[in-house]
Order: sequence, then C-alpha cells, then structure tokens
Amino acid sequence: MPELPDLLYILSHLRARLLGRSVDSERVREPVVLRFTVRGNLSLLLGRSLADAFRKSHFLVFRFQGLDLAVNPMLAGRFRLSEPGTPDEGSLGFALGFGDVELRYLDDKRMGKAYLITTDDWKAIPGLQTGGIDLLSPEFSRERFVSLLKHRRDQVRVFLLDKKALDSLGNAYADEVLFEAGIHPKTFCRSLKHDDAVRLHDAIVRVMNEAVAEVARRAQPIEVKVRDFLKVRRKEICPRCGGKLRTAGVRGMDSWFCPHCQPATRAGFVDWTRTGR
Ligand SMILES: [Zn+2]
Repeated sequence: MPELPDLLYILSHLRARLLGRSVDSERVREPVVLRFTVRGNLSLLLGRSLADAFRKSHFLVFRFQGLDLAVNPMLAGRFRLSEPGTPDEGSLGFALGFGDVELRYLDDKRMGKAYLITTDDWKAIPGLQTGGIDLLSPEFSRERFVSLLKHRRDQVRVFLLDKKALDSLGNAYADEVLFEAGIHPKTFCRSLKHDDAVRLHDAIVRVMNEAVAEVARRAQPIEVKVRDFLKVRRKEICPRCGGKLRTAGVRGMDSWFCPHCQPATRAGFVDWTRTGR
C-alpha cells in the first residue's frame, strides 16, 4: 500500500498538474471501488474545478466545489496520469479527465475505496480515523510519543501501525523504524525503557524524513512504488551485521527483522542468535 512518503510524493505531483483545472470527462470501469454518499455519480464532478488536494490519514482527498472525492488505495491502489485516449489498463477503476491529462485510479486487487461526499462529511466514511499524530509535523514531539507509548499494552509493532495513534506507518516503514531503533517487533510497549522510546522516536523522524526525500529524489512516475532503498523489508541480509534477516508474524502481519540487531526481550521467542542457523 502507498505509505506516507509515497502519498506525499503522489500529492505533490497531482497538485502541480491538476489544481485549478476542471473535470471534462469521467469513466467508471470498476464500480465496486466507488461509494457514493451523495445522490448521483462521478458525473457530478463534470465542470467542477479541483480546488485542493490533500492527505487525510491514509486517504487522498480531491476537493471540488461542494464535493470531496476521498480515495483510500488500500493494498494495491495506484494513481496514474495518462494522456486521454491512451488504452485503458486492465486494472482501471475510474478516470477523471482534466483537459490534456487524465487521472486514472488503478487497482489490481479491487480493494481500494473511493467515496464521493459533500465537503468535509468525513463521518460518512467508515474507517477514516482521525486523531493520529502526523509523524512529520511539529506535534510529533519526543515527549508526546513517549507518553503515548507509556499507555499502551500491546506489542510495539501493533502500536506503530495504529492509525488512531500515529499518522501513519504501514508494514514497510514499521519494520524499517524498528530496525533503525534496534527493537524486536514483538516487544511489548510497556517493557520499553525511556531510552528505547526516545531511540524509537528518533528513528521514526529520521527514517520518514529520509524516505520522503529519497522518494522525491527518484522522481519516478506516481504509479511506481519506490521501496528498494529500504533496509529490511523483503530483504535477506542485515546491512548492519551481515546476518540473515527473519520474519515474524505480529497480529497476522509478516514483520522483517534482524535477530542479532533487534534481540528478543522476553521469554518465549525463538532466539535465532542461539540456534546457530
Ligand atoms: Zn543485523
């Protein structure tokens, strides 16, 4: 799924290309991705200009006069800017034409959702959780993070993925920040010491800011997910110690980590450093 650095990159491109332009065509290929909480369909957007585009949690919101189109790409959703008239992709969900450029939403898994709502009618959208602290904002301070962490009873990786608390980390960056901080993904929040919490906060700030800069530096088309610079997710060898990376299931999600650099801190883990493998 697109994570924070991807969403910010996509947004900056879409804003540069589309802001102030009017919708002059619309096509819906895969109706399951669309949800309407207003009467009508995408044709309601015809003739309206794009006044703003912004991120709200893991949604991208396209703001038109009186209407917001909020898109949650879920696992496989992607945006592409295409020339009108070029052949449709098999995974096309819907498209909006803006003169000489067309915004296409593609989704191989058909899991993404797009909601057409009246302006700011967020309560109409299930799962649009707000309240998480924007990881790239000044509000994401060390003190705020340490105090959030102190009140959690779950495993640290589950906490990191909680969008009601943090806005936001997905699977790839959760693994990356835990590796950076040297913390095992199954560690319980309450067993983290103050120093661990501070290190984890620093790791989040560093990893996310570097990722935002790196994704922008690569300047790939917006449908391309740039992830090859990540150190542990879907990799084999630890770049720090040269050992073999492992995966662990945390609440049904696969987590990548280095058993040497991120040692287990509680009994019951398989201690890979002792198995000789
Ligand atoms: Zn290592």
